[in-house]
Amino acid sequence: MMIVMRESATEEQVAQVVARLEDAGAQAHVSRGQRVTVIGAIGDREEITALPLEALPGVDRVVAILKPYKLVSREFQAADTVIDVRGRKVGGGHFAVIAGPCSVETEEQVMAAARAVKEAGGSMMRGGAFKPRTSPYAFQGLGEDGLKLLAQARDATGLPIVTEVMDPRDLEIVLAYADVVQIGARNMQNFLLLAEVGRAGTPVLIKRGLAATIEEWLMAAEYVVKEGNREVILCERGIRTFETSTRNTLDIGAVPVVRQLSHLPVVVDPSHATGRPDLVLPLSLAAVAAGADGLIVETHPNPQHALCDGPQSLPPDAFAEFATRVRDLVAFVGKTVS
Ligand code: PEP
Ligand code: MN
Repeated sequence: MMIVMRESATEEQVAQVVARLEDAGAQAHVSRGQRVTVIGAIGDREEITALPLEALPGVDRVVAILKPYKLVSREFQAADTVIDVRGRKVGGGHFAVIAGPCSVETEEQVMAAARAVKEAGGSMMRGGAFKPRTSPYAFQGLGEDGLKLLAQARDATGLPIVTEVMDPRDLEIVLAYADVVQIGARNMQNFLLLAEVGRAGTPVLIKRGLAATIEEWLMAAEYVVKEGNREVILCERGIRTFETSTRNTLDIGAVPVVRQLSHLPVVVDPSHATGRPDLVLPLSLAAVAAGADGLIVETHPNPQHALCDGPQSLPPDAFAEFATRVRDLVAFVGKTVS
């Protein structure tokens, strides 16, 4: 349920509604819009409906949110969520170019990648220290040593760090270094992990599952927001289809669909969507045109020698050219690279 306060409602009146909901065993999520404050009530629907909320001072109306996801819906919050990551913003006209290698390999590699991202005007640095690999024999990431190298790259360039957590047991250590924690496609429905990152105070990037519907993806985000963490970025990274020309099929239509259904920012990962460096630029431009709030792209100082996803990674010179082309289109659609 959603309790919409009057424009004239005071903080005390909002607090009174929150207290009333909490007394009844419901969770209250307060969203302060430019004009009105809305309180999302999560709990037993029958019990919440039975409360005389409309009679409380300052309450305008009580409405049901019909979608299965509530707090991430546009119904609950009309304005775009803007996430501030060490001064780099995502959403609401702010566009993030997140780039870096698939995995952290060596100090030299990470520092070279970070410099390339910085010089090209990127917003944040990506890089995996805990890698979800299809083969148990493939490189699994450097773990905490990799996180330390990412922190070193951040110190040198000022770029915030986006890195994946795969297991709730590693969350504490990942949170000690990450500016944004990534939930990988394979973990999009790891509900325990989603709830854990929901209790953390660090922004979360949730990649769409390989076979997840948009609704399931938004429900994953709801798991995080329900626990109190509102800073969620959604990432479309391609889905499995019958097509084999590309590694996955980029569901570009998901971008405007999600932007209609949810206030959360949506970024696109053209690298994992296609597996092909020649398609990274065209699909990135398509993503900007479709209304995306950012991109997450793989770049490696030496793709031929990468331990993971080299073939889809842009080398530094191609990345610089890519960033220029993206920035021009971002400006054309009236947004700014943050
Ligand atoms: C990644 O970003 O390196 C990654 C493994 O992506 P995904 O979870 O989308 O496959
Ligand atoms: Mn990768």
